[in-house]
Amino acid sequence: MQLIRRTIVTFTILGTAAAEGWPALWCPCDACAKARKLGGKDIRRRSAYQLDERIHIDFGPDSYAQMLEFGLSYHRLEHLLITHSHADHLFPTELQYRSRGFVPDGVGTELTIHGNAHVERRIRDEVDLAKCEARFVPVTLFEPIDLGEGVIATPLLADHAGDDEMAVNYLLEREGRALLQGNDSGWWPDETWEFLATKTLDIALIECTYGPRDARRHHLGVNQVVEVRDELLKLGTINSETRVIATHFSHNGGWLYAQLEDFLRPHGIEVAWDGMQLEL
Ligand SMILES: [Zn+2]
Ligand SMILES: [Zn+2]
Ligand SMILES: [Zn+2]
Repeated sequence: MQLIRRTIVTFTILGTAAAEGWPALWCPCDACAKARKLGGKDIRRRSAYQLDERIHIDFGPDSYAQMLEFGLSYHRLEHLLITHSHADHLFPTELQYRSRGFVPDGVGTELTIHGNAHVERRIRDEVDLAKCEARFVPVTLFEPIDLGEGVIATPLLADHAGDDEMAVNYLLEREGRALLQGNDSGWWPDETWEFLATKTLDIALIECTYGPRDARRHHLGVNQVVEVRDELLKLGTINSETRVIATHFSHNGGWLYAQLEDFLRPHGIEVAWDGMQLEL
């Protein structure tokens, strides 16, 4: 009998902060002072992720710094998935540097950008996509997107960015494994919970913007991370094998890495840090 081995690709968490980064750009608060002093896992860039070399989620103002820090080669990217149009998740200006003049012989790989109508408007306001070897494809809720090489991304509805904008979280599936990118989610609307009830996750990234402060609309705090985990368990979406990881932290929450760990670890929940690598 021949044993068929599945392949593994690396999913890297490139940033784990909320909008203003941590330490925040202009902030004299205690939590930012401590982060500056401690460094390491307490330095948090704006949220983004990369799967292998081809697929990237969100493209905020720290994208260039993340490329340098984590040794990435963006010219190999084929798909850019954008969750919503907030500036910490989308900084369109940087996309224009794909055009000739900035890249003398051209990038050589077409980039397909996936996102909602607000994302499209913000990008088209600043960037001539044709000149940048890029195209835009609007996402449809709960409709799987084939990203090639067996990777499927499905946009799920989040409660974030208000009624006007359809913010999404992406479910990534590959060779029978599944990862949920769940930052900027708020408490998910019913249709997302119903969809998730049909899936089994290997990795669940859950948003934790406010630390010890309770919140359910737009963002969550540590207590809601535990609640989301419990709800996912109840639905059978996760099990004892699933890695549950909190991410997207604001200095406004005040809890540094060690304090977040002290609270979440006993619940079996990990705390994300910039550069954390996972296998999908
Ligand atoms: Zn955010
Ligand atoms: Zn601060
Ligand atoms: Zn946001």
